[in-house]
Amino acid sequence: MSVTRLQEHTFLVDVSPGKLQNFIASYVLKAKQAAIVETGPTSSVPNLLSGLEKLNIKPEDVAYVAVTHIHLDHGGGAGTLLKNLTNAKVIVHPSAVPHLVNPEKLWKQSTEVLGKEITELYGAPEPILVERIIAAADGMTVDIGNNVKLRVVETLGHASHHQSYYDTLSGGIFPGDAAGIYLKDIDVVVPTIPPPFRLDASLASLEKLIGLNPKALYYTHFGMSVNAVEKLRAYANQLKLWVSIAEQGLRNKQGFEVIRNKILNSDESVRKAVKYVRAHPVLGGVVFDHSVQGALKYAEKYGNVYAK
Ligand SMILES: [Zn+2]
Repeated sequence: MSVTRLQEHTFLVDVSPGKLQNFIASYVLKAKQAAIVETGPTSSVPNLLSGLEKLNIKPEDVAYVAVTHIHLDHGGGAGTLLKNLTNAKVIVHPSAVPHLVNPEKLWKQSTEVLGKEITELYGAPEPILVERIIAAADGMTVDIGNNVKLRVVETLGHASHHQSYYDTLSGGIFPGDAAGIYLKDIDVVVPTIPPPFRLDASLASLEKLIGLNPKALYYTHFGMSVNAVEKLRAYANQLKLWVSIAEQGLRNKQGFEVIRNKILNSDESVRKAVKYVRAHPVLGGVVFDHSVQGALKYAEKYGNVYAK
């Protein structure tokens, strides 16, 4: 676990599940009260709590725990965290509420998709009482004092219940998985678009974020980047490229591996990242294949009207 100050009021806590660093970030906003964006998984909640302690934030002063979506690496730890933060409420997209109240199905599906090794590294999510959940509508804003506010920006596409958060004071955005995975070490973004990825919704979400003219992106995976608009535009183009290659491959009746290799070879950023990603204990085995599947399923179902 380590804590880094990014703004006067914004801190990055590297929650390091399974001691894996530079992979999952929780962001802590400190004002009159405190807010947390992204919890990380259940297994690293003790590290996040140590981070709060290091920042001299009392557990009872945390008012909000905002999660972008409920995939285990983003919101999986919310239930365990809330047991420790007695006054906090969790902010989540309305359609994700049932899965926080009863996370059993989420856990089962995660195990099927990610495999036992990764889900065990993350740990099972604990249920949350419905009265501690805020089903947040697009545009809802919470205020933690000293002019620090977080605005909900619905950003569907990566998941059908995904939302980002806009820090109105610093002009930064917490995009969750809506803007891809930022590999800070090599300054490359790679897609995270597992099924049921929606290109149309993703592109609309990226436009929405670009429209805010953000000064910075605070990636959950991982860290801050200041070239926010440039990064969002590049990500939109990357997603269009992936789906157009998937569509072409389907038309030519190519198999999964052929299409995957074509995508990986055609995307310049991914080419730079292949070695790094393949060596990564969590991303290595799954992230490219899942994202290629996401692009393929989308192309199969909807075609690729946005790349023409
Ligand atoms: Zn996700």
